[in-house]
Amino acid sequence: MIPLNFNLDPLQRSGIRRFTNMAKEVDDCVMLTIGEPDFATPEPIKAAAVAALAENQTHYAPNQGIAPLRQAIAAYETQRGMACTADQVLVTVGATGALFTALLGILNEGDEVIIPTPAFSLYETIATVAGAVPVALDLAAHDFQITDEALASVLTDKTKAIVLNSPNNPTGTVLSAESLAAVKGAVAGRDIYIVCDNVYNQLSYGPCPDLSLDPTLADQLLLCQSFSKPYAMTGWRVGYLVGPQPVMDRLLLLHAAQVAAVPTFVQSACVTALATDVSGMAQEYRRRRDYCVERLEKMGLHFPRPEGAFYIFIDIRPFGIGSEEFCTRLIRQARVAAVPGSCFGAEGFLRISYCCAMENLQKGMDRLEQFLNRL
Ligand code: PMP
Repeated sequence: MIPLNFNLDPLQRSGIRRFTNMAKEVDDCVMLTIGEPDFATPEPIKAAAVAALAENQTHYAPNQGIAPLRQAIAAYETQRGMACTADQVLVTVGATGALFTALLGILNEGDEVIIPTPAFSLYETIATVAGAVPVALDLAAHDFQITDEALASVLTDKTKAIVLNSPNNPTGTVLSAESLAAVKGAVAGRDIYIVCDNVYNQLSYGPCPDLSLDPTLADQLLLCQSFSKPYAMTGWRVGYLVGPQPVMDRLLLLHAAQVAAVPTFVQSACVTALATDVSGMAQEYRRRRDYCVERLEKMGLHFPRPEGAFYIFIDIRPFGIGSEEFCTRLIRQARVAAVPGSCFGAEGFLRISYCCAMENLQKGMDRLEQFLNRL
């Protein structure tokens, strides 16, 4: 093969997909791997897409996104507490597109990106593609929170960005006000961007402190958001990026060069999504969270308290088995699929997703319990 971009060399297939595929080969395996709502997209959103197609909204959209959607997003974010205008909004291909545009747009070769870990692997991937250096800030040792000391130990004059993801994938934890104060103290007034991955923000079960609501950080904050999780729209591939106007003017050019624009009729449906009440889904996730927490606690397992998203990050260190081997055995011997902590940069844990039907969760918990009893 003629050599490719060397920055691609370290990239690997997503561990989540790898373990999902392994599980698919096992008959009747309970899948607790993928972080995808089991709900169908609400009918009004689908109807809006159909109507937009009937109206022939099938031509190129403006690179930045259609005006009604950007206006609705700006109104939504402003009401939430992050004051912004429609010009600061860029409609992207999922939060994946928002993260790609944000990180690729700000990182130069050799720049360092602080990634509080365990973390969704995409941040590391994008930093690597950009030729930047992902720097893990290990939170497992600090109750999954950020301390001044830990942050100071990874901050250098090459630090260009820090990525925050709260509620977190894979732990379900929410960063405390103290954690965010540590971040603010470290980066305020310095040439460091805060990239806020807020994709689980609407799926938090209690207070969720958020630096995107702090106006004093507005010049250095980039907000990445998605329609995937709250509206059960993972396959529609829509998200958005909001940031300071001069930054967004430049990032728009990168987005335009990569994807031109998000499909027009899909954007129209997202205007309806923003006006749709999806609190019922969040309530159902909470019910499932409560059920799983109770079952796992009865099994004597430990995990940080999941306050949002739809994940639980179970500590398997007491079993003395690596997370990949543990998850492989769990699939083969107990027919339950989970994702090893190693896929999120945290050995000694596994992630389960509880975004599946209650009867599957019950079956999964029963099988996990039997598996642990035999270990
Ligand atoms: N950020 C986090 C933390 C995620 O878990 C995901 C999806 N699993 C994404 C971003 C990307 O979401 P999407 O591209 O579907 O909007």
